[in-house]
Amino acid sequence: MGNRGMEDLIPLVNSLQDALSSVGQSCSLQLPQIAVVGGQSAGKSSVLESFVGRDFLPRGSGIVTRRPLILQLLSANTEYGEFLHCKEKKFTDFEEICKEIEAETCRVTGSNKGISPLPISLRIYSPHVLNLTLIDLPGITKVPIGDQPADIEYQIRDMIMQYICNENCLVLAVTPANTDLANSDALKLAKDVDPQGQRTIGVITKLDLMDGGTDARDILENRLLPLRRGYIGVVNRSQKDIDGRKDIKAALLAERKFFLSHPAYKHMAERMGTPYLQRILNQQLTNHIRDTLPTFRSHLQSQLLALKKEAEEYKNYSPDDPARRTKTLLQLVQRLAVDFEKLIEGSGDKVDTVNLSGGARINRIFHERFPYELVKIESNEGNLRREINYAIRNIHGVRTGLFTPDMAFEAIVKKQILRLKEPCMKFIDMVSQELVTTVYQCINKLSSFPTLRNETEKIISTEIREQESKCREQVMLIIDIQLAYINTKHEDFIGFTNGQQTFNQSNKKVVAGMTGNQGILGPIMQPELILAFCRNAVMQ
Ligand code: GDP
Ligand code: MG
Repeated sequence: MGNRGMEDLIPLVNSLQDALSSVGQSCSLQLPQIAVVGGQSAGKSSVLESFVGRDFLPRGSGIVTRRPLILQLLSANTEYGEFLHCKEKKFTDFEEICKEIEAETCRVTGSNKGISPLPISLRIYSPHVLNLTLIDLPGITKVPIGDQPADIEYQIRDMIMQYICNENCLVLAVTPANTDLANSDALKLAKDVDPQGQRTIGVITKLDLMDGGTDARDILENRLLPLRRGYIGVVNRSQKDIDGRKDIKAALLAERKFFLSHPAYKHMAERMGTPYLQRILNQQLTNHIRDTLPTFRSHLQSQLLALKKEAEEYKNYSPDDPARRTKTLLQLVQRLAVDFEKLIEGSGDKVDTVNLSGGARINRIFHERFPYELVKIESNEGNLRREINYAIRNIHGVRTGLFTPDMAFEAIVKKQILRLKEPCMKFIDMVSQELVTTVYQCINKLSSFPTLRNETEKIISTEIREQESKCREQVMLIIDIQLAYINTKHEDFIGFTNGQQTFNQSNKKVVAGMTGNQGILGPIMQPELILAFCRNAVMQ
């Protein structure tokens, strides 16, 4: 590295980034980088476009960024863009870049608004940019739209986490000024991974949209929610500006004027605005790379050593000697099995501290996501009361009853049990997806033997699919069994009048019995409660 200048550091890491993208995710190097996070419509795309001075990011409502975009800005004399996935082509028309991002997004995710962690790499050369690499991530969203999976919020969070968990990743937390800053999605996420605020850079957008008489001086002066690297305010183009095709140069002038003339900001106008943000990021990323380089280098060297050792093992492989060949292939397949088992069952040696293994992810599905899904189906008490009331009245018909009809109880409880089917199916889906992902992770080691790799992959994924469908049948059966006969003589039903305590405990058992998992909590199905409701309804 000796005679390289500081300004070469970012391009150097860029080429590493490209190399790693083509190797695939299996490489666990933690590159120094900047990830852009924020809620939907916080102004992330606007900030990136202002850096480039061009419109080139897809816009629209809903989740527009559905794959991470690694945006490498490189200072150059001419202006053009190129994608890692079609390197031959030089894009001089920025509208075309926009279309290519959309097309490439859909190529992997389909057009149904799903998301994928597979990044798109775009490099933009321009006389107007400073060397800078940023990763644009999907906006944090709350409500799924269209045929988006119901757990889209979770998926997006997961993807963002994968990037910002990396200790070498600076987090550009974009927060609009016209919302409650203390509740900023971006700042909350950043705080999760960087509690001391050491590697988070705050960006406050939409300062022009704040209510009259209010300003963001407190936060911009780093007093409200202090970060070591502080906050920078920007004013991007409004939707009206964009519709009116206001160009970015004019917008930058307007931004500068805004800061210079605003009474709350004019004393710090020199430390505000997009050009300043760009300069600071360039500086901080360069320093950051310089600081992390020594550790990074030793990490790289140890990986190289490990790979060399692996290559050594294959040296004896000779394609002409059938006995040797068989032995090598056999060893590879055996190792695949061991690797897979380690990833699922866990292992004590060489613990991965960067990514969660397949087993740990499945564990999380069991203990976090599944209960979450179950709680989501928990019914609204008012509705349940009404249903119970109607059921009882419909069963009595024209007569007035004296006792709670069992049929009402059964009808209501069965309806509740049925609702378990959907989350259970989804749950099986998630686990099997995780297994498939884990297989992919291990099978990459066979990539020097494409035929073996493809055959093995086919066999394993067929097996997973078969087991998955068996599992579905089993779970359906268990639920159907529960539906077929409700044993009110069971101990769980005894003492149901003794208060909520008993309800919750026995309720756990009912659900646990259905899913075979003791860890699931939450009052999802409360037959006892329902029964109590039934009684109440009669009393009234
Ligand atoms: P993203 O979803 O975070 O990428 O947000 P966008 O950059 O697409 O911005 C969402 C909307 O907010 C767009 O209509 C922008 O024009 C608008 N917007 C972003 N930043 C500002 C700002 O600083 N001021 C104003 N008035 N509007 C902004
Ligand atoms: Mg965007």
